[in-house]
Amino acid sequence: VSEPIPFHRPYITEDEIAEVVDSLRSGWLTMGPKTVRFEGEFAAAVGAPHAVAVNSCTAALHLALVVLGVGRGDEVIIPDMTFTATGEVVCYLGARPVIVDVQPDTANIDPGLVAAAITPRTRAIVPVHFGGQPCDMDELREIAGRAGVPLIEDAAHSLPASYRGNPVGSIGDITCFSFYATKTLATGEGGMAVTANPDWAARMRTLRLHGISRDAWKRYTAEGSWYYEVEEAGYKYNMTDLQASLGLAQLRKLDWMNRRRAEIAARYTAAFSLMDPLRVPGVRDDRRTSWHLYPLRLAPGVRLDRGALIDELGRRGIGTSVHFIPLHRHPFYADGLGYRDASFPVADDLYARSLSLPIYPGMTDGEVDRVIAEVTDIVRGAA
Ligand SMILES: *Cc1c(COP(=O)(O)O)cnc(C)c1O
Repeated sequence: VSEPIPFHRPYITEDEIAEVVDSLRSGWLTMGPKTVRFEGEFAAAVGAPHAVAVNSCTAALHLALVVLGVGRGDEVIIPDMTFTATGEVVCYLGARPVIVDVQPDTANIDPGLVAAAITPRTRAIVPVHFGGQPCDMDELREIAGRAGVPLIEDAAHSLPASYRGNPVGSIGDITCFSFYATKTLATGEGGMAVTANPDWAARMRTLRLHGISRDAWKRYTAEGSWYYEVEEAGYKYNMTDLQASLGLAQLRKLDWMNRRRAEIAARYTAAFSLMDPLRVPGVRDDRRTSWHLYPLRLAPGVRLDRGALIDELGRRGIGTSVHFIPLHRHPFYADGLGYRDASFPVADDLYARSLSLPIYPGMTDGEVDRVIAEVTDIVRGAA
C-alpha cells in the first residue's frame, strides 16, 4: 500500500529552520528587525511602496476597512465564493457584507453584478482572487472609480500572481495577503497589508500594536525610549520575528515554489482535459495565477457525485478539499444576514461540482501521477 497523499504539506526546508533558529538565538522573539526586513522584501516582491505585517490576512482585511472608515450602516461588496474571513471583518465594523455571485469560468466576483450592487451606502469593494487567479481588475477599478469607493483585494490566495503584467499587490488600494499554514507562502499564521498610500500604511502600523505611536516595538531597544503615546484603541495584530523568519526564507524561493505548482497544474490539466466528465480550471490569457488551488470540476450532468468522488479518493489515500462552501449557505449569512432565499446560481453550481486536488511544491511527480491515476480510475468506473 502506498503512503497517503495529504491535501496539503508545508514546504519547510533547512533554510526556514536556520532562519528561525537565528531569531531564537538573537533573543528577539516578537515583532522586531526581521519583521521590518520581511516587510521591505515583501513590498519589493509585489511592487508595493508600503507593507504592514500582521498576524493574519483576516487582521489585514480588518485594518484595511478601519483605515478606510467603514462603519455602522455601510455596505461592502464581496463575492459569495470565499472564506468567511472576507465577510466577518465587514461585520466587525457593524457594516453589511453585500454578497454577489461569481463568474462560471474563474469563480471570481462578477464585475457586472458588482456594478449592479452599488448603492449610496457602498464604502468598499473586496474582490477575492479565487485559487490565485486575479479578478477582472480593470473592470473593477472602473466600477470602483465611478462609485468613488476603494478596492481592497483579498489576495489570500494570490502570491505570486499578476494581471496584465502588474503583480497583485500593485493594483488595488490596499491588498491583503495570508501566510496561513496552507497558503503559498506559509509562516504558520501571518498576513500582510500592502498599499501605495503612506497615511493608510502609517495608521495600520499604529493600529496593529494597540494604537501606540509609530515604531512602538523599538521601546525595548537601545534606540528606543520608555516613553510612548496611545493614539487610539488599537488591536494586538502584530507579526512576530519567528513568523517573519519563516517568511524571509520562503520569500527567497517563492518563484521556484510557484513554478513547481504550475508544473503540477499542467500535468493535471494535460490528463483531465481529455476526459469528458471533468472540467479543468481555466486561466485567462492576460493573467498569471499562483496555483494556490487546483479546483477540478465534474462536467454538468455527470452521474458521478462530487461527495462520492471525495470519499472514494479518501479511501484510496488521497486528501482533497472543497473551495468554498458559498457564504450564503452558512447559517450566519443565511439566517443572521438574511441570505437564505437569495439566489447565487453560479456559486451553487460550482460548489456542487468542485473539489480541490493536492497541489504543493513538495509533491513528487510520482504523487501527482498517482492522483491522476486514482481520479481517472474512479471517474471511468462511474461512467
Ligand atoms: C485563508 C483565507 C483568508 C484568511 O487568511 P488568514 O491569514 O487565515 O486570516 C481570507 N480569505 C481567503 C479567501 C482565504 O482563503
